Amino acid sequence: SVRVRFAPSPTGNLHVGGARTALFNYLFARSKGGKFVLRIEDTDIERSTKESEEAVLRDLSWLGLDWDEGPSVGGMYGPYRQSERNALYRQYADQLLQSGHVYRCFCTNEELEKMKEIAKLKQLPPIYTGKWVSATDDEVEEELAKGTPCTYRFRVPKEGNLKIDDLIRGEVSWNLDTLGDFVIMRSNGQPVYNFCVTVDDATMAISHVIRAEEHLPNTLRQALIYKALGLTMPCFAHVSLILAPDRSKLSKRHGATSVGQFREMGFLPQAMVNYLALLGWGDGTENEFFTLDQLVEKFTIERVNKSGAVFDSAKFRWMNGQHLRSLPSEDLTKLIGEQWKSTGILTESEGSFIEEAVQLLKDGIELITDADTALSNLLSYPLHATLASPEGKPVLEDQLSEVVANLLAAYDSGELNCALEEGHTGWQKWVKSFGRSLKRKGKSLFMPLRVLLTGKLHGPDMGAGVLLLYRAGSSGVIAPQAG
Ligand code: GLU
Repeated sequence: SVRVRFAPSPTGNLHVGGARTALFNYLFARSKGGKFVLRIEDTDIERSTKESEEAVLRDLSWLGLDWDEGPSVGGMYGPYRQSERNALYRQYADQLLQSGHVYRCFCTNEELEKMKEIAKLKQLPPIYTGKWVSATDDEVEEELAKGTPCTYRFRVPKEGNLKIDDLIRGEVSWNLDTLGDFVIMRSNGQPVYNFCVTVDDATMAISHVIRAEEHLPNTLRQALIYKALGLTMPCFAHVSLILAPDRSKLSKRHGATSVGQFREMGFLPQAMVNYLALLGWGDGTENEFFTLDQLVEKFTIERVNKSGAVFDSAKFRWMNGQHLRSLPSEDLTKLIGEQWKSTGILTESEGSFIEEAVQLLKDGIELITDADTALSNLLSYPLHATLASPEGKPVLEDQLSEVVANLLAAYDSGELNCALEEGHTGWQKWVKSFGRSLKRKGKSLFMPLRVLLTGKLHGPDMGAGVLLLYRAGSSGVIAPQAG
């Protein structure tokens, strides 16, 4: 049966690369009716923190990638934190020592440094050439009796090669002669990362390892350990890097890269999941809009691309807009209403004013936070203030003055307010007669009106905007503006 895992190291926030790896694992598990396991790789005690672990769990949950086994849900193959599995690593390390695949190495750091220097001088790979690879039992016993600290070193075959059949990359092979015997357990008894991962994947019955391409060198070591332990290897699938537009590896200097940052910027989890899936995957059609359920239905690992995928933040924003607008109207209103209340633009998060404002502004929005700017822009130009003191407003061309004068007259006489009182039809009727009296129509009427009434050359439907502004004054939901 299919069992996959996402194995983050809790040393920081969940980044887009990790989130995409988690997503591909999730999609693979769900599409195959398998299990999605979450394992916390906290062997690096110095760098691992509880806060990071919590943040990773929170971000995965936010994305909707729920795990079947792991922290907070448990499971039959636990514990799911490497820091709690030391006894197991010890047991397997001893097994390898017994079988001769591993030997004790008593070399001091100085000796190891020396070895490296010599290799460098001779332009050879920095592989272990110490004496412990072929020490006699007596020599080992002697050091043990003295209490000399030792590492466990893996005996790598000195020639030949090793192949795996990667589900994304096809055949990958390595020559073994440049690898050298590597340490699987440090002298303080701490197991080394590659060893832990192998023991965990094997004992957690993982069938497929889907992870980032940068782990390929680890795969070589892990494959050797599987063989030595006589365990069946899982299938491997190494996903390509996520690249910045300049095709370098995406990193902090390119802007936001963590899931938490995108959440704060106003991205929706649905959009994030959709966009991440498209970084290296597609269903083979032009379609780019997918919900998580649709992705589960369509996803196949064979369609994951071998080459790196470029992270295009403009496209991500665009996609977020698509997802925002595809939300049921009540959900979108609720989301944006809460946004407006939380940022203090409005004092309430629901009501008819908000419903109308969302309807009016939603087409110009990509991120939830864009709604703040959109509403502030609208409100920063209140009708009465505009009409009462047009001179402080954007420089108006001379040809607008006729419209200004007449608009002011309509405002002062209460005629405009009367019309707005009647809603949209009232507004339309008024605009028509206003245009007629000035002998203006089309652009020459609407452009000056728009500039005067909203302070901008472009924007959402003018009538609806003006009505909203008119109602804003009496709605009681606008938070007092500073200044
Ligand atoms: N803990 C590793 C990381 O955070 C992942 C290891 C793996 O997937 O095998 O990059």
